[in-house]
Amino acid sequence: MNTADCLFCKVVAGDIPSSKVYEDDACYAFYDITPQAPTHILIVPREHVDSMDAAAASDKDLLGHLLLTAASIARDKGFAENGYRVVLNTNSDGGQTVFHLHAHLLAGRQFIFPPG
Ligand code: 5GP
Ligand code: ZN
Repeated sequence: MNTADCLFCKVVAGDIPSSKVYEDDACYAFYDITPQAPTHILIVPREHVDSMDAAAASDKDLLGHLLLTAASIARDKGFAENGYRVVLNTNSDGGQTVFHLHAHLLAGRQFIFPPG
């Protein structure tokens, strides 16, 4: 896709306002605009990758970094002991609506499994 048209590339660039939670050289984390839990944070790579399906072996460190960042944010916000959920929706059946890879960090309530 043309990354100039990508919503989360615009968020990362600061062209679309967002409520920042954390950032580093590789990723940016911000609050979801339509929270599905008391705390709902999105962690996105600065570099555009369409989805988990589009990720390559060369993205291994980046994927690990997104997950470890989710865990670190959860710990910092006091959710580690009670628990939380990390979700990566992928393509149509997975419920992906924004095609810039992102991890959802959901916390602050009990989640059921399997999800709907
Ligand atoms: P997906 O459905 O692709 O897994 O997740 C996309 C997420 O992005 C949704 O939870 C949606 O609420 C969130 N979202 C969509 N547009 C915006 C936006 O402009 N700002 C923020 N902060 N979140 C957004
Ligand atoms: Zn993008």
